[in-house]
Amino acid sequence: MSATRIALVGIGKIARDQHVPHIAASPHFELAATVSRSNGIDGVPGFTSIAEMMAAVPDVQAVSICTPPRGRLAIVEEAVAHGLDVMLEKPPAATFSEAQAIVRTVAEAGRVLHVTWHSREAAAVEPARQWLATRTIERVEVNWKEDVRVWHPGQEWIWEPGIGVFDPGINALSVLTQILPRPLLLGAAQLRFPSNRAAPIAADLTFADTQGVPVSVAFDFDQRGPQRWDIDVETDAGHLTLGMGASQMAIDGAPVDVGDEAEYARLYRRFAECLATRTSDTDLTPFAHVADAYLLGRRAVVGAFEE
Ligand code: NAP
Repeated sequence: MSATRIALVGIGKIARDQHVPHIAASPHFELAATVSRSNGIDGVPGFTSIAEMMAAVPDVQAVSICTPPRGRLAIVEEAVAHGLDVMLEKPPAATFSEAQAIVRTVAEAGRVLHVTWHSREAAAVEPARQWLATRTIERVEVNWKEDVRVWHPGQEWIWEPGIGVFDPGINALSVLTQILPRPLLLGAAQLRFPSNRAAPIAADLTFADTQGVPVSVAFDFDQRGPQRWDIDVETDAGHLTLGMGASQMAIDGAPVDVGDEAEYARLYRRFAECLATRTSDTDLTPFAHVADAYLLGRRAVVGAFEE
């Protein structure tokens, strides 16, 4: 089968760091164009709107949307109006109802939608899911702590209402909801807002699964020193540790070889499968947990954030 001609919409950090190299390496895709307000990729035709692109390069078949979450529905509507299939960076939208509208819009247009969760493609996620499936889980602890100054330098959109520490935190929720055997229910949340920002810099979430197993989650966007993206699961038959964003796994402290295939290589392979079978992958569960955190979260104001 010939490679799908795909365009990237929004040329920022993630488009350049991950999407461009992994499309180039994929046998399933060919980067046909970019759509950007101001940027481009050397050697690739660049346009400022999907309509302009489709007029000039009408054989584009799909778009991969890498803009910040606000405004995604309008981009998706324009894409499907031109008959394009759609891959969406996480988080899928600015609000939960916008994400639902995106799913509905693409389905009604008869196109394929892949709502991606790149951390779910980390190498240890599937081995962890399988290991946990045969054990009794007693408690889960998540520590997802990074320095926003290092990972999102100068990105103003990250402090828009609804984002903040949930931009990385939703990655942890995407892993949790993939590896645990039962749904999670939020019991309580504490959100800490810098006095000069509209989004939280830290959050503590207390979940239980539907059999009452406690799951405690700590997100911090102001982590100095060593960065942590860890999930620990205590079971009746050993302790599972996922480290470095679920790219590493250990059982009772002993490392397990899970390979090292890159998240975005798997993500594009998954989109290729969706296209080949004309099926969409639209799980919004991690985003629902973020919305719940805002519904139940008690808010505290902390010191001002300075870049
Ligand atoms: P970024 O560096 O700020 O780039 C986003 C790009 O989107 C901009 O360069 C801009 O490109 C376009 N854009 C369109 N409307 C915009 C607006 N109102 N404000 C700012 N940019 C706008 O952001 P990013 O880090 O690549 O993140 C983009 C998405 O990828 C987010 O949903 C994020 O959660 C996700 N993501 C990021 C990372 C990461 O490590 N940074 C990792 C995984 C996922 P044009 O000028 O070309 O229009």
